[in-house]
Amino acid sequence: MKHIDIADVLHKSELIGTEAVVCGWVRTYRDSSAVAFLELADGTSFARLQVVVDKNAVSLDAECTKCGASVCVRGEVVKAFRGDGAELNAREVKLLGKCPNDYPIQKKRTSLEFLRTIPHLRLRTNTFTAVFRVRSVAAQAIHRYFHDRRYYYINTPLITASDCEGAGEMFRVTTQPWNAKYEREDAYFKEDFFGQKAGLSVSGQLEGEVAATALGRIYTFGPSFRAENSNTTRHLAEFWHVEPEIAFAELPDVMEIAEDMIKTVIRTVMAECPEEMDFFEKFMEPGLKAKLSNVVESEFGVLDYTDAIELLKKADVSFQYPVEWGCDLQTEHEKYITEHVFKKPVFVINYPKEIKSFYMKQNADGKTVAATDLLVPGIGEIIGGSEREADPEKLLAAMKARGMDLSAYRQYLDLRTFGTVPHGGFGLGFERFVMYVTGMENIRDVTLFPRSVKNIM
Ligand code: ATP
Ligand code: MN
Repeated sequence: MKHIDIADVLHKSELIGTEAVVCGWVRTYRDSSAVAFLELADGTSFARLQVVVDKNAVSLDAECTKCGASVCVRGEVVKAFRGDGAELNAREVKLLGKCPNDYPIQKKRTSLEFLRTIPHLRLRTNTFTAVFRVRSVAAQAIHRYFHDRRYYYINTPLITASDCEGAGEMFRVTTQPWNAKYEREDAYFKEDFFGQKAGLSVSGQLEGEVAATALGRIYTFGPSFRAENSNTTRHLAEFWHVEPEIAFAELPDVMEIAEDMIKTVIRTVMAECPEEMDFFEKFMEPGLKAKLSNVVESEFGVLDYTDAIELLKKADVSFQYPVEWGCDLQTEHEKYITEHVFKKPVFVINYPKEIKSFYMKQNADGKTVAATDLLVPGIGEIIGGSEREADPEKLLAAMKARGMDLSAYRQYLDLRTFGTVPHGGFGLGFERFVMYVTGMENIRDVTLFPRSVKNIM
């Protein structure tokens, strides 16, 4: 259908005085004896287009006035009666699709909980169109960030046989019938599609390292899967993962890149989505824009894990989980550090090796690894990263200490055998980032069809 976007009608002043055809959904309808006003949305802009219908000159089907109906309007673009921008004086209003009165998205604001029960329709609200425009702009900005700096975009496999990293968190991939009966586990997997146990990847990092040690700088941007048993507002079973991997890089380089990327992408979102950001500021997180401006302008904090433990022990609050050197930081600890102490994003670095993965570079102290988590106020961890262990002997020792099946990691070990280099990278949870920039408080509200424990609508 030949028509133009509402975003263009609203913002391109050269269209004033011309005839335009616009398609969209009716969001509101007001009426007086001589004129009717329809507000149309077509997804291209946060602001809607006001259509003015002279009832004496243009026939208006009553179905066209219902909230949710889809229509096609031909008319003249004129300067808006109020404010700047434009509106449309209708010459013809055609009904495309009726919308009965039981349409669940009505003018009054409905709760996010209710909207989660109708994921296929919730996108038609202001909140969700705003979230998904921001999500799209942020995704493009991430690609641009890496592309402009000569990182190559690679696609790592989603089906994997390596099951160490996400043991317990990995979804199995199988074609076995539900009642398959075998004496032993290995016999069962031998009959399965791949002839061995397979699952959905929790991270593209290991394959990312393969690519980075040839291409120099790479990134992945794709789904990761985790059978997270925790029903939190920050975990999904299927989430999008941004994972750059950089050759000839040490931990401080990795942190510098993470900080620069976060700041650059936030700047882009603020510049390209001003109306959406105003909306989130008003309805989701008062102070959001000041928070993000502060993030862009300030330097992220850096805190050694050992100092973090000291700081938490001295804290004047009672945590549900007690802290001791060697423990994993819980969300309550992460939030305390970033919300009460730093009041901005903080890199926590040098974690005890026992609570981190086998591939992280072992520090000279023999106790810690060159890992970092980036914590932000309101959410906690949004990035996990590290310098990788480049020394084949040390890597082997770490794997043996964990009782890993070395035969499954021959390729990974080869990267150290043949021309090993210092390298590192990080993983950003894309949905958590979208939460951070929009102020949305539940990860289920920044993804189209959220998947989590007992929920696959
Ligand atoms: P958490 O402790 O919050 O579960 P993690 O330590 O398991 O995170 P990593 O394995 O380091 O996380 O993954 C890198 C990033 O991926 C995290 O910082 C987070 O932003 C994101 N992430 C991890 N698990 C999930 C999930 N289940 N849903 C959404 N995002 C996730
Ligand atoms: Mn996790």
